Amino acid sequence: MVLHYLIDHITIVFFLLVSAVVVLSRSKGRAKHHKKAKAKLKIAVDSQMNEPMTMHPDIDTSLCIGCGACTTACPEGDILQLINHKAVLVTPTKCVGHGECEVVCPMGAIDLVFGTKTRGMDIPRVSTNYETNVPGMYIAGELGGMGLIRNAVKQGVMAADHALSNLPNAKADTDILIVGAGPAGIAAGMNAVAKKKNYMVIEQNAFGGTIYSFPRQKLVMSHPFNLPIVGLAKFPQHEVSKEELLSYFDKVRKQAGLKVQEKTRFENIEKKGDIFVVKTNKGDITARKVILSMGVRGSPRKLGVPGEDKPKVTYNLIDPEQYQKKNIVVVGGGNAGAEVTQMLADKRWGNKVHQLVRTGTFDRCNEDNQNRLRTLEKEVGLNIWFNSGVVSIHDDYVEIKKENEVVKVPNDFIFVMAGAELPHKFLSSVGIKIEKKFGEGLAKAK
Ligand SMILES: Cc1cc2nc3c(=O)[nH]c(=O)nc-3n(C[C@H](O)[C@H](O)[C@H](O)COP(=O)(O)OP(=O)(O)OC[C@H]3O[C@@H](n4cnc5c(N)ncnc54)[C@H](O)[C@@H]3O)c2cc1C
Repeated sequence: MVLHYLIDHITIVFFLLVSAVVVLSRSKGRAKHHKKAKAKLKIAVDSQMNEPMTMHPDIDTSLCIGCGACTTACPEGDILQLINHKAVLVTPTKCVGHGECEVVCPMGAIDLVFGTKTRGMDIPRVSTNYETNVPGMYIAGELGGMGLIRNAVKQGVMAADHALSNLPNAKADTDILIVGAGPAGIAAGMNAVAKKKNYMVIEQNAFGGTIYSFPRQKLVMSHPFNLPIVGLAKFPQHEVSKEELLSYFDKVRKQAGLKVQEKTRFENIEKKGDIFVVKTNKGDITARKVILSMGVRGSPRKLGVPGEDKPKVTYNLIDPEQYQKKNIVVVGGGNAGAEVTQMLADKRWGNKVHQLVRTGTFDRCNEDNQNRLRTLEKEVGLNIWFNSGVVSIHDDYVEIKKENEVVKVPNDFIFVMAGAELPHKFLSSVGIKIEKKFGEGLAKAK
């Protein structure tokens, strides 16, 4: 009896001791994490890199319970961290708007918003079902201000869902006209096929959208997305090559019987009564509803420096093999710039590459890309110049401002990877209003 009593007590004491050790080591670990997170946030604030560039999470600290689900869900790494048991965006400029954090938050404490209280972001006025202020005209995909393939697919499906659910009775060539065959347009078109509606997808270039003009063999990062008819598209480790992704889209196109009219360019649109008259290079098309899913690659962000109109300046890279033993400048320290630099600095080509980063750190580029660039710096002499930018472009050299001096660098090609701008002029010309968002989401659906 006494022995039993003693054993019970020893067990309890042992259990309490083990629990105390676990709790202590966990809180030590947490404190270390908090310290690291605070240091990251300080760097972002000190270097004025604390304003996110795109759609990003807004955390309601009164609802956040500090469970950390959002911190592990982010595909870009440690963008969200816990500080004092609350989620904080510690490296805001690295956020590309995946939105995983919002999905996993068990408390509904995260909203996805555009802009911040101090810095507004221009986006076209669309409701939560992606209808613009022009009734019957929708915007899906990157044209609406949100990047990423998965976002484009989701929006294409949602826009088509809403557009096709309340069609006017007026007579037209088609129920729905979809402009652009990138991920958003493909998804919208597949939805129209699934709903057995009369549809047309027009594309000025080729099926696939921006993916088609990615560099050869580029590794595309994409979390699973859901397409009507074929279901979930999921790639190992969420990575797939450009070629595999295009062939996936080709396969689903055939499977669904999706028809796309290529080499057909949208030129203008007019609303006549309940229908739209769309002008294209192949003639007019009338439609009951229209989805504009044209992306933003038609309006790359420019440098605005003398000589930028020279043919050696380009805004995307398709075939790195074309460039061998050349002097190349890549402008841009984001993921797109980092990937282009890696391809051009590959030792097989023997190029001399300078990568120019506007700020003092890689504040818009994920860790994997940064590590690959650091390796190239050591192995092939890649020049990474922080706090630098192009001053002027000449036939065989370029002037670069590096810190406080201007240097001349021999040059054959310049790749400007500075993102794209919203085509304000085009959107306004078709009657779509642009709104400056100061930390707000999309307007409530009508
Ligand atoms: C270098 C680079 C790397 C990227 N890497 C990734 C990545 O790894 N993962 C990821 O998720 N996202 C990535 N993105 C972003 C992704 O490509 C886009 O967010 C996505 O393609 C947007 O899809 P969309 O359908 O809205 O537009 P787009 O894919 O741009 O398609 C728009 C289509 O509309 C057509 N079009 C335009 N104007 C007209 C007109 N007047 N008439 C007819 N057709 C027209 C265009 O030709 C184009 O085919 C990357 C982008 C770039 C530039």
